[in-house]
Amino acid sequence: MRLKKSLTISAIAVASILGLGACAGGGDANPPVAEKPSFEAGTTMAKLADAGAITIGTKFDQPLFGLKGPSGDPEGFDVEIGKIIASKLGIAADKINWVETVSKNREPFIENGTVDIVVATYTINDSRKEVISFAGPYYNAGQDILVLAGNPEGIKGPEDLKGKDVCSVSGSTSEKNIAAYGVNLITTDTYSNCLEPLRQGKVIAVTTDNVILAGLADQNAGEFEVLSNPFTEEPYGIGLGHDDDAFRDWINDVLEASYADGSWKAAWEATAGKVLKTPEPPAVNRYSN
Ligand code: GLU
Repeated sequence: MRLKKSLTISAIAVASILGLGACAGGGDANPPVAEKPSFEAGTTMAKLADAGAITIGTKFDQPLFGLKGPSGDPEGFDVEIGKIIASKLGIAADKINWVETVSKNREPFIENGTVDIVVATYTINDSRKEVISFAGPYYNAGQDILVLAGNPEGIKGPEDLKGKDVCSVSGSTSEKNIAAYGVNLITTDTYSNCLEPLRQGKVIAVTTDNVILAGLADQNAGEFEVLSNPFTEEPYGIGLGHDDDAFRDWINDVLEASYADGSWKAAWEATAGKVLKTPEPPAVNRYSN
């Protein structure tokens, strides 16, 4: 832990000496942009490559994965995954149109064409697969619990939250998973909205994926702690139009290539890896419908 911290500090120091302007979890791996890639006519890849632009939905308030930075564009691991996909379409980062997706509007934004893809701490699951499709996973998270620093209520896991006021986000798997534990659930639109109620004692815990909570704890040093006792599996996928199989297969190919050529690891290390250990990339799941 101590070693990780000092590495983190030196990485940030080096970045600022180099004038890279990196902040914790907000780096940029800059994948090389493919020159004039060719795709079969009529595919989503051909359409996006011809347009020279892509609209990607992501979170804007989740440090390490998707947080709107000083440039006005979001930064984080999800953002870097979006840049890798765009780069293979021949689309540079400055031609990506970033749209904020909160948990509950991700499927509607894909279905109504507001976005081309969603990369937003988005768990692959069967009910979502009824209306959209998923490439990935490109990361495996797990639901966890955030409490005040020092854990004054002595919470060890979700069982200790029965009958207690707990904050989570509507339209998320976190909300559904925690409901099974009989908590008094208070929901809002984004996880950052849960922090003030936790500070004020209006709720005793916030629950969602461990990596989202780790980012919020890191952003508010000394105020909160994550239990680090995950109780679900949350494989993160890239949301795309329902049954667009050619696009899904192609994104899965891009992910596998990014595992092999080091760009997935570089994306992690420039962002979430400043706070979290580098995991092994998960095998993509080419599920059949
Ligand atoms: N990964 C979970 C989900 O997709 C929780 C995080 C979020 O809401 O983005 O619902």
